Amino acid sequence: MERIEVKKGNLAIDRIEERCINCGMCAKTCKENNDIGKECINCGQCILTCPMGALVPRFNYKTILNYLYDTNYEVMVITSPAVRVAIGDAFGYKKGEFLEDKMVSALRQLGFSKVFDTTFGADLTVMEEAKELVSRLEKKENLPLMTSCCPSWVTYEKLFHPNDLNHISSCKSPIGMIGAMVKSYYAEYEQINKNNIILVALTPCVSKKDEIFHNEDVDFCITTMELVMMIKEANIDFKALESSNFDELLGKGSGAGLIFGTSGGVTEAVLRTSYYLINGKNAPQEFYNLTKVRNNENFKEAIIDLEKYKLKVAIVNKISTLKDYYEKLKDYDFVEVMTCPSGCVGGAGQGLVPINEMAEYLKERQTALYEDDAKNTLKNSYENKEIKEAYETYINKGKVKLHNKETVVN
Ligand code: SF4
Ligand code: SF4
Repeated sequence: MERIEVKKGNLAIDRIEERCINCGMCAKTCKENNDIGKECINCGQCILTCPMGALVPRFNYKTILNYLYDTNYEVMVITSPAVRVAIGDAFGYKKGEFLEDKMVSALRQLGFSKVFDTTFGADLTVMEEAKELVSRLEKKENLPLMTSCCPSWVTYEKLFHPNDLNHISSCKSPIGMIGAMVKSYYAEYEQINKNNIILVALTPCVSKKDEIFHNEDVDFCITTMELVMMIKEANIDFKALESSNFDELLGKGSGAGLIFGTSGGVTEAVLRTSYYLINGKNAPQEFYNLTKVRNNENFKEAIIDLEKYKLKVAIVNKISTLKDYYEKLKDYDFVEVMTCPSGCVGGAGQGLVPINEMAEYLKERQTALYEDDAKNTLKNSYENKEIKEAYETYINKGKVKLHNKETVVN
């Protein structure tokens, strides 16, 4: 049977040859999810359907264990929103259980000196992307603005539509944002030499392993699956862990930042802040539950009233959807694309679950993120005190670069 090729030098995906039975499932999955022929965009969805566990994320956690024992370095970690609603699968929790406090606690037990929240980085992406959207709307240029936080989508665009890269947001992804802040703002604040910091991104995503290779601030990327392996190898009793909170300065994220973990979440988050930037007041209540962007259709669209603008937004949920809709995207003002089904909650680094229950797992993970946003009193990125402080004391002084030079993820 035809199987996908894992090229030598692929930084995201690995194949354990002796496990492979040539069943062809990976090629079938790649066709269904991506439908882009022979090019690998590193999403790793094939990992989730390989019946033999022959396809795996390229594991980096053993190297990190070495750094954790090296007293010359401070090893810090940043954690993406979707990990906290999937890690419980490996420890007998119900689907989608929200386990942020235990995840932080486990990371501390493993020896990470600081645990920061990539949701803070997502808030920075929201702030900068909303500014970019408003500016493009005013100038009527490079519309639609297309999101930049999914590296597999950016790779797709570079491969198949290089002439459209001017549409992709120049903003760094959430891990790019917080990575830059750890190695500058935090290092200066704590007076640590940034060369002595090893920064690890904990993500649901195998494609981020490729993204960080082009990023000078984030040193390693591990997946949810790898964190589970680290916890089990260290004999940590996950269920018995006490709660623990993120470290301050880069540890606070809004509900808007948290819902980045699901398809439609980036759009909703950016619209809340765009409304504020345009009108100088909080958005009306419906911006906090945009039902048209919250369903699990492959293509979602809505017209959003920003008062000065009636914004046409489109959300592509799963990259194979682009095949039928790409030309239509030019009719919109804002486009979100997430490669994995349901967005990052469905990332290939989340760990294996029974395929026939996958849809249910994804739904519960999404619900958990939305529920946390609903009960969070902090729902807007621009109201996050740590974000405000970072702008006042550091970002507004031009001390850190939050945008990519070109429209590429780095
Ligand atoms: S799905 Fe797994 S076992 Fe089947 S061909 Fe692909 S790598 Fe081999
Ligand atoms: S949707 Fe999320 S998990 Fe999937 S490739 Fe994109 S960034 Fe990674």
